[in-house]
This record gives sequence, structure tokens and C-alpha cells, in this order.
Amino acid sequence: MTPRLVLFDIDGTLLSAGRVFREALAEALTATFGTTGPMESYEFSGRTDPEIVRGLMRGAGLEDAVIDARLGPALERFAIGLVPLLVANAIRAKPGIPALVGRLAGDQSVTLGLLTGNLERCARAKLDPLALNAHFAFGAFGSDHEDRRALPPIAVERAFRATGRRFAGKGVVIVGDSIYDVRCGQGLGVRAVAVASGTTSRERLSAECPDALLDDFSDVEAAMAAILGNGTG
Ligand SMILES: [Mg+2]
Repeated sequence: MTPRLVLFDIDGTLLSAGRVFREALAEALTATFGTTGPMESYEFSGRTDPEIVRGLMRGAGLEDAVIDARLGPALERFAIGLVPLLVANAIRAKPGIPALVGRLAGDQSVTLGLLTGNLERCARAKLDPLALNAHFAFGAFGSDHEDRRALPPIAVERAFRATGRRFAGKGVVIVGDSIYDVRCGQGLGVRAVAVASGTTSRERLSAECPDALLDDFSDVEAAMAAILGNGTG
């Protein structure tokens, strides 16, 4: 079997964390900038946490210099507020995820990682109630870079450090529920697997021309085939 690095998005893909994200973000933005910005109209899916803060504060009319000066403290306050809210009953695994991750983790040809806009400590706190952290030894996070397109090379480098293997091209699989998950690895020629289990419609994901597209991962065999590219290389 061809070795593959399989990188999972978190929100809308592995799990749902409900509205606690917005609650913690609204509190941190109000405390730091005095406004939440246009939270009700802003599209959060697929964006990194620092990108979300910048987008909302630009939407509130703030200059980038002001945003840059307070971005770090805002994210710190957000994480401190969010982590205690990420208790077991706030986190729901997406359909088929526990079985799918278990299957992939048991496949000798697969190296698993995370690729998410979450700050790393928030990502770990979300995975903890589902006991998924043990399957994701490394990842690339919103705390590594504001631009999601910068995250795949970081994940590939961490995979090399963890395994000694250089993953490239279609040997890298990015799994996510947003158009930005599909787009972020295009420059590296990765395999993109989109799943319509988040807030983005199947039609909108399809328009991004992912290598595979599923409604959800409840059919674990279909999910394995989509991710490993069986039958399509
Ligand atoms: Mg997502």
C-alpha cells in the first residue's frame, strides 16, 4: 500500500462543538476590542482563528495596525474562555468518525495528522472528550499561521519529523468540510476529500472540484475508499 499522510480538519469534519466557540469569541472580542464585529453574517467555516478575529474586526471598521497590536491578547483570552466550555456534552462526533479514525489508525500505510484553523490547545481540548488525541500525534494549527494555505507544508514537515518519511503530492490527503480545506493544498497537488457534514453545502463543495466528495462518513468503507483513493489512484 502506498504510504499516505491523512490530515483531518476538526470542526464540521471530525466533530461539532456547537455555539460555545461563538460565545467565547464574542466575550474575548468585546473585552479586547470593544465590539464583536459582524458575527451573525461572517462565514467562519474553514478559516483560522486569527483570520476570524481579523475578519470580524475589519468588519467592525478597525485598522490592521490596531488589530495586529491586540490579536495575540484577543486569542489568548478566547482560548482561556473556550477551553473550559469544551466539556463532553458540548462535543459531538460527526457520523462514522470514531470508526473511521480507528480504521485509519490501524492501517500501517496511513500516518494521521490534524490540519485545522483552531489554536492547538483548543484543538486538543475538542478532541479530548472523544478520546481522539491519541490518534493525532501532530498537526498544523491556526496557532502556527493565520493563512490556512500555509498549514499543509507545516503538517508535511511535522510528519517528516515524526516518521522520517517525505509525503508529497497525492500522498498527502486533506479531509475537510469547507471550500478552504479543498483549496489549501492545491499548490502542493494533494488529494482533497470534502465532506458535507459541516455548514457548507454539497453543491458548493462540488464546485471546488475535490478529488472525492461525501455527504458524511457514516459508510466507513466508502470513506476509506474516498480517502485512500482506491480505484482512482
Ligand atoms: Mg471545518
